[in-house]
Amino acid sequence: MVKDPVCGMTINEKDAAGSITYKGEKYFFCAPGCKISFIKNPKKYLIEHYLNKIDKSGQLKNNRKDEES
Ligand SMILES: [Zn+2]
Repeated sequence: MVKDPVCGMTINEKDAAGSITYKGEKYFFCAPGCKISFIKNPKKYLIEHYLNKIDKSGQLKNNRKDEES
């Protein structure tokens, strides 16, 4: 399962409407509109995407297990 960086929805890679590789990382989208939004302004969505990975003390959360499954 992966998180759509645009709308925040958790989706299955196989069900994704689209994907994109940006700066070496692959992102999946629930709908074509989300992919278009990301292409238009990737930095905006990546900031929120990475903020979700950082805990209150500023450390990067160790949630790789969730991302692999
Ligand atoms: Zn979406």
